[in-house]
Amino acid sequence: MALPLVLKTETFSLLGPMTLKAVDGEEFVRHGWPPGRSVLLLDAVPEDQRSSLLQVPWGAVMSSKPSEVSTAAPVLRHPDPHQGVRPGDIIEVNPDRPMLRVLYRRGDNGNVIFATERCNSFCLMCSQPPREEADEWRVRQNIELVDLIDRDEPSLAITGGEPTLLGEGLVDIIRACGRALPDTDLQVLSNGRGFADSDLALRVRAVSHPKLQWNIPLYADVSAIHDYVVQSASAFDQTIRGLYKLAEAGQRIEIRVVLHRPTVARLAGLARFIYRNLSFVRHVALMGIEPIGFARANHAALWIDPVDYQGELSEAVTFLHGNGIPVSLYNLPLCVLRQDLRAFAARSISNWKNVYLPACGACSLQKRCAGFFASIDKKWTSHGVTAVVSEGEAP
Ligand code: SF4
Repeated sequence: MALPLVLKTETFSLLGPMTLKAVDGEEFVRHGWPPGRSVLLLDAVPEDQRSSLLQVPWGAVMSSKPSEVSTAAPVLRHPDPHQGVRPGDIIEVNPDRPMLRVLYRRGDNGNVIFATERCNSFCLMCSQPPREEADEWRVRQNIELVDLIDRDEPSLAITGGEPTLLGEGLVDIIRACGRALPDTDLQVLSNGRGFADSDLALRVRAVSHPKLQWNIPLYADVSAIHDYVVQSASAFDQTIRGLYKLAEAGQRIEIRVVLHRPTVARLAGLARFIYRNLSFVRHVALMGIEPIGFARANHAALWIDPVDYQGELSEAVTFLHGNGIPVSLYNLPLCVLRQDLRAFAARSISNWKNVYLPACGACSLQKRCAGFFASIDKKWTSHGVTAVVSEGEAP
């Protein structure tokens, strides 16, 4: 079951906001996290070890019985132990708020570094509607966060908002990731516009992160459709120029296309455009829509049942694959995909927001099916969803 990322708590003697690694005795000894930047999960410590561990100068101590804890450190009330904080997680606490935020869940496949609320686009289907807010403070917090992430974390995404709006701050975060997590795949979700008229790509190249990739959305082979989808004039031109700047700087690039009514009509044309003009990209991801944020308000303009665009999808996938450009399908359930497309589908939805429908209980494909976003409802459900009884059977 997906665990919540925002939990109720109470703080005692906490003087300011803190970002803390959650540890029990074993986690502390094995990984050596700095105690001043850790929160001791007292409920997880055996009774006979508690008093000696409480002598350590922790950043904070968390307990379900805070009034019984004797320590000089700030104390936090442990939320519901079944939904709570586990060793290895990273939390953010603030004395002004009666809740804590889990910034990192050990073992989750969807951990992100949230760069900024701000964005220079206003996409019809934005899942994280932008807010104009002075949030440069996130650079420092994110660098602190990176230092506490497990060294064997397989992958992380930097997301927003539009991360490039942080400018040098984004370069600093990427540099921190390269230093602390050189083996972690790092994907930055950016609209690419910020590279067009700046030297940002060169500054990123100077950091030389070994496993950095830029995931850039492109919604059509013509500017009118792309600019309409992102609700910004000249965005297509800037994104294309940004892509060339990134390629020139030797960066790894994935093109992302969210599939909805405005984008599927020219999908085959977009595939040809990518092959002819952007053949340097490493991968193309064609993605089902997440029904959240602005997408919900724009349902009428966006919704098209995936079973109704299988022809366009198949043409695009066949063309890209046939011409040597790796392509994947994200966020699309297997039963709505034509047989020839299923091999391209990935289980792409983060654990914490991934659900299955009642029909899935009887389905032989569930283990390798992407399923659905937790925000799904009837309006966003394909009429093609049906249990597949055996692998060879057509839906
Ligand atoms: S019925 Fe099967 S293929 Fe369809 S969404 Fe559920 S698990 Fe996936």
